[in-house]
Amino acid sequence: MWMMQVTLEKKINLTQDVYELHYKLPEPKIMLPGQFVTFILTGIWGRSYSILEIIDDIAILIIKKWEQSDWGRGWSIALCDASVWDEFKVVWPSWHFVLQDNSDNKLFLWTGTGLVPLYNQILEWLKKDSREKYQLVFWVRHMNDMFYTDKFEALKLQYPDRFFYHLLTSRDEENGIIGKWYVTDFLSESVVDKYSEYYICWAPAMIEWCQKRLTELWVLEEKVYFEKYS
Ligand SMILES: Cc1cc2nc3c(=O)[nH]c(=O)nc-3n(C[C@H](O)[C@H](O)[C@H](O)COP(=O)(O)OP(=O)(O)OC[C@H]3O[C@@H](n4cnc5c(N)ncnc54)[C@H](O)[C@@H]3O)c2cc1C
Repeated sequence: MWMMQVTLEKKINLTQDVYELHYKLPEPKIMLPGQFVTFILTGIWGRSYSILEIIDDIAILIIKKWEQSDWGRGWSIALCDASVWDEFKVVWPSWHFVLQDNSDNKLFLWTGTGLVPLYNQILEWLKKDSREKYQLVFWVRHMNDMFYTDKFEALKLQYPDRFFYHLLTSRDEENGIIGKWYVTDFLSESVVDKYSEYYICWAPAMIEWCQKRLTELWVLEEKVYFEKYS
């Protein structure tokens, strides 16, 4: 584990409050898929963010900018509002969240930036000459909170027998009714039975709902892998 100074090099708005942030590292680094970095923002231990990808000396993260609460620290605001050329201290790499090395069909349950740790791992596995299937269930409040859907569509076209995705919104209005499609609504016996491993990533409450639903559907605890953004 080491500490280094990184420089914000590029900032892309993926939605109104989700940013793809490119940080320049002092030198090229090898990254293991699913690792995360921890930003030291006030001289004490700070907030952690999963690494989407490292290309030579550029680390790419995706961060959601949360609104400031009375008790919150607002670090995601500091990171998302930073200007290009701003410098930050980070500690890395830390624990990594990885796909199991086997040919089991895998189901992914993600909300927003919960896609970050495993997205590039899925791309790497798809490139291999294997047959397992990957299904993403991507859940946000409103359709305009979705991102990377063009990439999901391109993957579906490239790997029509192996890659599938399903988008759910919990607050959009459809035919005059506010949709209430939570990720757990998608989890029926017929869906769950097609997969042998389940990967969940987002806030603790969402992970607990999914675990509960999967247990009701007789999924074994050891087949459920998760990363909590807390
Ligand atoms: C291993 C790990 C990897 C992570 N990777 C990422 C990542 O890739 N991208 C990313 O955007 N975040 C990621 N996070 C979450 C991140 O570390 C912070 O928790 C998040 O940015 C909020 O920090 P803040 O200081 O802005 O929140 P605060 O100012 O403390 O909170 C602001 C408000 O937002 C709410 N809030 C904050 N976080 C959440 C949440 N997760 N779910 C629901 N409500 C919340 C709070 O209730 C509060 O009202 C990761 C966390 C961990 C532990």
